[in-house]
Amino acid sequence: MQITFLGSGTSHGVPMIGCECQVCLSDNPCNKRTRPSIAVAGPSGVILIDTSPELRLQAIACGLKRVDAVLITHTHADHIFGMDDLRRFNDLSNSEIPLYGVPETLEDIQRIFRYIFVPTQAGGGKPRLTLHPLPEQMELCGLHVRTFVVMHGALPVQAFRFTDPHTGRSAAYVTDVNFIPPEAEQHLHNLDLLILDAVRYEPHSTHFGLWQALEAVEKLQPRQTLLTHLSHHFDHQTLTNQTPPNVAPACDGQQVVV
Ligand SMILES: [Zn+2]
Ligand SMILES: [Zn+2]
Ligand SMILES: [Zn+2]
Repeated sequence: MQITFLGSGTSHGVPMIGCECQVCLSDNPCNKRTRPSIAVAGPSGVILIDTSPELRLQAIACGLKRVDAVLITHTHADHIFGMDDLRRFNDLSNSEIPLYGVPETLEDIQRIFRYIFVPTQAGGGKPRLTLHPLPEQMELCGLHVRTFVVMHGALPVQAFRFTDPHTGRSAAYVTDVNFIPPEAEQHLHNLDLLILDAVRYEPHSTHFGLWQALEAVEKLQPRQTLLTHLSHHFDHQTLTNQTPPNVAPACDGQQVVV
């Protein structure tokens, strides 16, 4: 499978509006972070995780031309406000796109994007989505997908493990997390790639700080870890120097073959 980091930034993005810190003013392209999302290309299609507010810009920047299914982690604005850009993928594939979420997620999406799901006048078009409750396990785009819950403060968030049945290789996407419950941990062993939330150095009430993320890495021992949901507290190069050799900050546009 191939994973593309469409966005590796926290909810404010980097640079942050009106901030003149060294990271926000930096010329390093890896210090320019759009809101968090990845695309997972399996043997028979592409799974998009979340629809960030910059989905259009991300798709153009990364050459993303197809989306066969969408998985939603949770309905915070930084994870869903690009929903309308899915229209273009409907047009490209000339088909509806299945979107998977837990019941609360599907309810939120129908409320927040009400126009998508009610009859309206013909206009610029609307995303054509079919909503599906997220199963614990499913086969999607030629990958085995395992879903489990991690905690984002008091809010349960969906995390995903993708396994390619032909190669046996696995990657997990665990964003917006400040606590990994033991039931979730069992799905995070023997990973070739772990994509993990680290919003800043210090702990945060709803996200891992760097030291907590590194503690989780130490415990779970994935072969490689890429940190995401990064804020302007992190300079890409500085953080790269501070992390162990098999742990690094992700960068927008980065592609990893697992
Ligand atoms: Zn977020
Ligand atoms: Zn800044
Ligand atoms: Zn969130």
